[in-house]
Amino acid sequence: MIIIKFGGTSVQNEEAIGRVISIVSGRLKEKPLVVVSALAKVTRLLCMLAEEAEAQHEDGVKDLLRQLRERHFNLAKNLLADNQRLLENCLEDVERLISDLETFVSGVCLIGELSPRSEARIISTGELLSSTIIAYAFNANGISCHWIDARRMITTDDNYLYARPDLDVTEANVKRIVGLESRGTDVILTQGFVASTDKGVTSVLGFEGSDYSAAIFGMALDAARVEIWTDVDGIRTADPRVVSNTGKIDVVSYEEAAEMAAMGARVLHPLTIEPARKKNIPIKVLNSTNPSCEGTLVVRGDQAPDGPKSIAFRDNILFVKIESSKLEGVTRMLGKVFAELYPRRIPVTLSGATESEVCLVIPEEVDGLKEALEAIEKWASVTVFRDKALISVVGRGIVGFEGIGDKVISVSGKVHIAAMSANMMSESFVIDHEKLQATLDSLHEYIFNK
Ligand code: ADP
Ligand code: ASP
Ligand code: MG
Repeated sequence: MIIIKFGGTSVQNEEAIGRVISIVSGRLKEKPLVVVSALAKVTRLLCMLAEEAEAQHEDGVKDLLRQLRERHFNLAKNLLADNQRLLENCLEDVERLISDLETFVSGVCLIGELSPRSEARIISTGELLSSTIIAYAFNANGISCHWIDARRMITTDDNYLYARPDLDVTEANVKRIVGLESRGTDVILTQGFVASTDKGVTSVLGFEGSDYSAAIFGMALDAARVEIWTDVDGIRTADPRVVSNTGKIDVVSYEEAAEMAAMGARVLHPLTIEPARKKNIPIKVLNSTNPSCEGTLVVRGDQAPDGPKSIAFRDNILFVKIESSKLEGVTRMLGKVFAELYPRRIPVTLSGATESEVCLVIPEEVDGLKEALEAIEKWASVTVFRDKALISVVGRGIVGFEGIGDKVISVSGKVHIAAMSANMMSESFVIDHEKLQATLDSLHEYIFNK
C-alpha cells in the first residue's frame, strides 16, 4: 500500500481535484489510501466561526455558514454536473454535515462559551466536507472509492486541539478497519487532521496535522511510501514564499526534516517524521501543480548526503532572559525554570543555560506564559524581549561549514543568542525582527548560491 496526502491548496477547487484524481489514477496498482485536508482556507474560516459563536455574533455566524455552504455546494455541483444521482446524494451528505454544524454552533452562540472540545468539533468539519465531496468525485470518474471516517481509526488523548495519538491502539484500528473495508475498492479515502478520543469524542491533531495523519496511516499499514502533495516542488533550501532563488532538496534525512519543521519550516508538520522513521518508510514531498517534478525524498540518515540543507525561521518570537543573583548551577537553574513551564505546557523552541542565567525562545501569545514568568520572578529577574526572530540553518555536518555565524552577525547587527542543537543538526540565532528578511536573503545567498 501507499499513502497519498493532499493539502488544502491541492484540493482547493474543481481543477485541483481533477489533478488529484489523475495523480491517484496513475497509482492504483499500489493500493492507495488517500488522505485529504480541508479545502484551502476552510479551517481558518471554521476557527473564525467558532470565535464568532463564542462572541455571540449571530450575524457573523450566519455569514460564515453561508460562505461554507456556498463553497462546498458549488464545488460539488461543478465536479458532479454530469451525474445527477451522485450530485443529489453528495449534496444531501454535505447538507447534513453543515446543518449538524449549524445546530452545534448555535448552541455555542447561545451560551457564549467555547471549550477546546467544542472548537475541535467545529474545525473538524472541514476535512469531513472535503473528503465527502472528493469521494463522490472519484466514483463519478469511474474509480471506486470507499470513504472512511478517520475518527474511527486514530485514537488520541483528550487534549482536543493538539491531541496526541495512542499509536498502538491506532495501528490496530487502522489495520482492522482498512483490512476489512478496502476489499473490492480501488481507493480508500479518509481525512487528515481529525481523530477521536477513546470515548469517541472528536479531537484534532493541531494545525497542519494532516501530514501527521498521513504518516500515522503509513506506519499502521507498513506502507511502501508516504507521498505528501503540496503546492511547491518539494522541500526547498528556504520557504520560497519568503526567499527568492531557493533550490529543491533532492534527498534529506528524517532527522534533518524533523529539525527543519521544529525550527519553523511549515512544509511538514513537526511530528510527521516520527511514525515514518519508526518503520523506515520513505516520505516524498511532491507538487500537485507540477506532478512530473521528482520532489524531495525523506529517508534514513545514512542514505542522505551531509551539509546544510535549508534555512528555517520563526518570526515574532519572544526572547526571555532569566537571571538569578546567586550562582545556582545549571541543573538547578534549568530545573526551577522548567518546573514552571512544563506543567503549563509552554512550548520552548530553544534554550540555553549558565550557572545563573537561562535564555529561552518562546512563541508569542502562549497561554499560561504570564503566570509562569510571574512565578519565576519570585526568585530571579526576568526580562522579555519582543519583536525578535529565530533563524536556523539545518543540516547534518553544518559544524564544518564556515562563516555562518559571521554572516548572521554582519547582516543582523546583533545576535541575542546563538546555539547549536544537541544533535548538531541545526545552528540557530535570535535576531531583531526587522533584520530578518535581509539576514535570510544574505545567508541563503552565502550558503546555497555562492
Ligand atoms: P499544504 O496545504 O499542502 O499542507 P502548506 O501551506 O502547509 O501546504 O505547506 C506548503 C508551504 O510550505 C509552501 O507553500 C511554502 O510556502 C512553505 N514552506 C516553508 N518552508 C519551506 C521549505 N523549506 N520548502 C518548501 N516549502 C516551504
Ligand atoms: N486543515 C488543517 C489545517 O489547516 C490540517 C491540514 O491541512 O493539515 O491546519
Ligand atoms: Mg500543510
